[in-house]
Amino acid sequence: MSEIRHDSHTDRTTIFAAHRQDRPQVFGSAAAKSCPFCRGNEHETPPAVAVYQQDGHPDTGEWQVRVVPNKFPALTPRDPGQPAIPNGSEPIPSYGVHEVFIESPDHIRSLTQLATAKAQLVLRAYQDRLQTLSSIGELQYAQIFKNVGVNAGASIEHSHSQLLAVEEVPATLQHAFQASQQYHSQTGQLLHQAWIEDARKRQSVVSETDHMIAFCPRVPRFAWETWIMPQTHAPSFSEATQAVLEDAAILLQDIIRRLESLHPQVAYNYLLLTAPFDTSQHDHYHWRMECFPRLDKAAGFEWATGWFLNTMPPETAAKQLRRVNL
Ligand SMILES: [Zn+2]
Repeated sequence: MSEIRHDSHTDRTTIFAAHRQDRPQVFGSAAAKSCPFCRGNEHETPPAVAVYQQDGHPDTGEWQVRVVPNKFPALTPRDPGQPAIPNGSEPIPSYGVHEVFIESPDHIRSLTQLATAKAQLVLRAYQDRLQTLSSIGELQYAQIFKNVGVNAGASIEHSHSQLLAVEEVPATLQHAFQASQQYHSQTGQLLHQAWIEDARKRQSVVSETDHMIAFCPRVPRFAWETWIMPQTHAPSFSEATQAVLEDAAILLQDIIRRLESLHPQVAYNYLLLTAPFDTSQHDHYHWRMECFPRLDKAAGFEWATGWFLNTMPPETAAKQLRRVNL
């Protein structure tokens, strides 16, 4: 059982999950032999909550994406009917859901090693889990993210992503959701449209399709940070159409391939930011994915101030990313 503590004075929240120190580090040449995510080792993970086979090959009997509960969960589900914890009680258990998306039965490292149809299957799995978990009353928000490489926080080499669903919306995200609403009430415009127009003016669009656009934002935290979002307004990834998912998979792989071309074997993260499960208060938010290589480490100044030191202007990053010959 994990414990959550808030400090309203510092506005910090920490989840204590001591059992996670037992996680194995599965990297290097021996990784493929002992990897719990490879085909044949399915018994080494908790039983799957969802399994996907590739469309068009339903009879092969082989999975392409497995979704499993995290073996070392940061959060655990509340028992059915379990009451909310009274105010002031300590310790406060940290309830929620922690799942892992295993993106291939083969021991691959990066999402770019998948055929696009299989990358799209990964995004469909994200969408299905968001839809399923949104129907569980206590859960309010789910964060999906991917860590590739030790420098990006991964403990297992095999390509995977994770979902953490929580019972309250984290303050940083709450602020972002409110900013979209405020921008609309003050200007009558949608914030993401202003971002896209700004990116076009700064010549910071890297790549785009009919439904999706990828650009380097005006204020990136990291060098080569790139945002990928729908061209038309959409608060929640849960409601993305098949055509949008297809373009999202194409652009996500496109951007990671460009990053990997500039920095072979680079460690990277991507995050899927989408409206909370109750979208009624967040109809001006616009979902997006943020993708960034982990070349520079956030250091003392960043931890102290929340300001970031970045060696790469986004306009230069966009130009370099566009120049990559895929
Ligand atoms: Zn593996």
